[in-house]
Amino acid sequence: MQQVEEANPVALIVQKYGGTSVGSAERIKKVADRVIQTVRAGNSVVVVVSAMAKATDGLVALAQDITNEPSRREMDMLLATGEQVTIALLSMALQAAGQAAISLTGGQVGIITEKEHTRARIVGIKTDRIQRHLNQQEVVVVAGFQGISSADDLEITTLGRGGSDTSAVALAAALKADFCEIYTDVPGVYTTDPRLVPNAQLLTEITADEMLELASLGAKVLHPRAVEIARNYAVPLVVRSSWTHDPGTMVRSQNIMPRSLANLELAPAVDAVEFTTNEAKIALLHVPDRPGIAGQIFRAMAREGIDVDLILQSIHDGNSNDIAFTVNQSMLSRAQAVAEALAPQLGGAEVIVEDHIAKISISGAGMIGRPAIAAEIFELLAAASINIQLISTSEIKVSCAIAAKDCDRAIAILCQHFAINISAAPDGNLPTVPVRGVALDMKQARVAVLNVPDRPGMAAKIFTLLAQRNISVDTIVQSQRTRSINGIVTRDIAFTVAQSEVGKGPRDASEAQKVLDAARGDLGYGEVVLNESIAKISIVGSGMVGTPGIASRMFQALAEAGINLHIIATSEIRVSCVVDRDQGVNALQVVHQAFNLGGEQTVTVPGS
Ligand code: ADP
Ligand code: ASP
Ligand code: MG
Repeated sequence: MQQVEEANPVALIVQKYGGTSVGSAERIKKVADRVIQTVRAGNSVVVVVSAMAKATDGLVALAQDITNEPSRREMDMLLATGEQVTIALLSMALQAAGQAAISLTGGQVGIITEKEHTRARIVGIKTDRIQRHLNQQEVVVVAGFQGISSADDLEITTLGRGGSDTSAVALAAALKADFCEIYTDVPGVYTTDPRLVPNAQLLTEITADEMLELASLGAKVLHPRAVEIARNYAVPLVVRSSWTHDPGTMVRSQNIMPRSLANLELAPAVDAVEFTTNEAKIALLHVPDRPGIAGQIFRAMAREGIDVDLILQSIHDGNSNDIAFTVNQSMLSRAQAVAEALAPQLGGAEVIVEDHIAKISISGAGMIGRPAIAAEIFELLAAASINIQLISTSEIKVSCAIAAKDCDRAIAILCQHFAINISAAPDGNLPTVPVRGVALDMKQARVAVLNVPDRPGMAAKIFTLLAQRNISVDTIVQSQRTRSINGIVTRDIAFTVAQSEVGKGPRDASEAQKVLDAARGDLGYGEVVLNESIAKISIVGSGMVGTPGIASRMFQALAEAGINLHIIATSEIRVSCVVDRDQGVNALQVVHQAFNLGGEQTVTVPGS
């Protein structure tokens, strides 16, 4: 791997230093030293910094002391100050050490965003001012996490917590930098969070697709939107430690096609529509709700060499669950035989089979924080009278199982709506492994809407309501089983909601419950149940496709630890399970262990 020291003498490098790395005057001076070394090696350097460690949390707490519901605009006004402190201090440190430097806020650079306070996306970056300073041999120190809305208002905006990574990668893309280096408090990207699993191993490389999943599923080391920009603009991205000179982790992207820098983070929110036909669906209804059941089912499938694609376990009423999954049509009779043989051991579960199923998926990190996109997909399909049989979503992907006969129509509608050409997004050229890493997200809550009338368009209505309130949902699952209430066929729909970024508590979750409760009369569903103490644990790896038994290994490991699964949702390169929050860390540890991801070495994280 190329390193700073060997870089081309006229390389332009964007370096980003996170909160811990600039956590004290002492640390800021160390950062200045490193920047100066990079300059002395013959490079031009733009530095992006975060607020000093815990500064942003401190500001959030202050706001909370004033009010529980601060306005988003004033939150931006407040939070943007954190980064302004650091740019000034680092610039002073550079100047004091004899290095010409200038600090610039996001607004001064011209990091133009939309006017969506606390979660703004970057629309474009003006590079002329930075370029001018670079030409004068100055180091440019830019405030991360913030921008300014365009035109008349010049509103200060922020990009969402953790957003400095996104500022750095976007700047690297706009400046066509040779590298973007993210300096943080760990030596790179690990198989999982080394604070929770001390023998997690450093990855020397990871594909952008895998990193995107891990980041959006809770691996805080990179902001998912930063990974998306790196992937879209093929920015060479490295994650390294501020404390050492080790090479760190390279995030590999393959340039799909050159893209315009206009509307940087906006166009397009969805960047791929993928589909597979030739699938079949098997559902096991009324399986007992206790640890080990999913493991038992998918172990039996794996033993027969049956590769399972989508797996969904929906919410349970009382003490039984439904588990549905898709397999290739050619595997159907074997999979059905396995399921039927198992059924008597599973409390007499009912086996339902449906063939000629297609799966369509829409993906793109532009969907993060854009709940309207999933709602749009459901609406588009409902408008075309296409019934959705299974829904599986993550923050960056929505997959729907539909009848194969509807597939061509669905694709045409979606491609036209999102203005994309159908393409299988190529992955980085890394050897694939079934499981590259494990992520834990403890900041979610689960909402279940019971007894939703089973007609096309209901999912669209529910998620449009939430989207109107800007409530982002993911991991939507729809139960297999239908129930007849007063002659109306109904299903349950459950999903997870991220906790609000503005305040501390799960505001989005309680707001979702409020909104849905209010619409109950109109939409005709039953109770809306909220569970705020869940955790989501996920495995990610691009080699999962075509390797039977990966999901079952995860389920079994969790079962052996006595951990019950509330929801299971999968996509091509990930499997996610929702468990009780107090079992989250234990779940992470046992799953990491089950895939032998640990090693001899342990890492000590500064400040932990
Ligand atoms: P910064 O302030 O530098 O942006 P963050 O705290 O945002 O740093 O991100 C770094 C932290 O991410 C690490 O200290 C670690 O606890 C956490 N983390 C979570 N998952 C991973 C992972 N897979 N690899 C490395 N770090 C991870
Ligand atoms: N200071 C901001 C935060 O704490 C942005 C960042 O550090 O990336 O979320
Ligand atoms: Mg961060």
